[in-house]
Amino acid sequence: NETILEVKNLHVSFKTYAGISHAVRGVDFDLKKGETLAIVGESGCGKTVTSKAIMGLLPKQNTMIDKKNGAQILFHGEDLLGYSEKKMTEIRGSKISMIFQDPMTSLNPTMKIGDQIAESILIHNKVSKEQAHKEALEMLELVKIPNAPQRMKQYPFEFSGGMRQRAMIAMALACKPEILIADEPTTALDVTIQAQIMDLIGSLQKELNMAVILVTHDLGVVASVADKIQVMYAGKIVERGNVDEIFYRSTHPYTRALLNSVPKIHTNNKETLYSLKGTPPDLIHPPEGCSFAPRCEYGMKICRLKYPRETVFSDSQTCACWLHHPKADTKGLPETMIR
Ligand code: SF4
Repeated sequence: NETILEVKNLHVSFKTYAGISHAVRGVDFDLKKGETLAIVGESGCGKTVTSKAIMGLLPKQNTMIDKKNGAQILFHGEDLLGYSEKKMTEIRGSKISMIFQDPMTSLNPTMKIGDQIAESILIHNKVSKEQAHKEALEMLELVKIPNAPQRMKQYPFEFSGGMRQRAMIAMALACKPEILIADEPTTALDVTIQAQIMDLIGSLQKELNMAVILVTHDLGVVASVADKIQVMYAGKIVERGNVDEIFYRSTHPYTRALLNSVPKIHTNNKETLYSLKGTPPDLIHPPEGCSFAPRCEYGMKICRLKYPRETVFSDSQTCACWLHHPKADTKGLPETMIR
């Protein structure tokens, strides 16, 4: 399958009152047509910053993208980091679209839903108003909003949380983008609606053959939809793999901790859910060694001194952790973590 997006050595920092915060520290990945990539990690790990960098949505006044190290965001081979704001505006919404946790960040509360979707079609396409409204209605039907013709004439506040999320997806997909970036699309919703929205994203992705980047703190929601997963911690990718590798053969202690905090259906009620102690490091003064060291139960002396190299386990799975160094002391490690 054709590679449509390549992110190369992305470094993003922000000027803050306290100093320069290094939010993304050398991120590489690619995305193929029709593929779903999940970027998973706690808040502040750099996952949202990475996706906003792709969209060109980071605030200009305090963001620095370090191009000296060869940072590139290639969309069909063209570097988006070199694009003017005008050119990015043409791409945003038509070729690459984004949906957020809170639909109200995308929906205009004072405009009827149908008019909003039609307007986003009119901005990017040379079609008549009637045609744009016809396509807007088709989009509402595509995202399975009941009574779509009536719903076209309603305002966002007349929609429930789940329906509003569907309307936002309809708007994001109105111009049939090649990539949909979904940032915590289900976090604000209850569990049943969450599952419905994830199913919807999965089926639309197949129907429109678009690529999806799913950004979330919750590994549990990605199992059924992702092709590949990358786990981020303190601005770096610490492990990547396909769904089976991450869920059944994960090799990084942080991925393990995330997995242990996912509620399981077949569990006895007395079992308490694992919660990871401590907080991620301060990114104004990021540590020299492994950023996870202060929270890691397997940490060794070397971990605090030097950042671990990536160990490659398969075409799809890599892990940056000293435990996989040939000389590491792996006594006491869970069997499945030693590969
Ligand atoms: Fe833990 Fe060391 Fe691996 Fe970091 S490098 S995750 S501290 S074992």
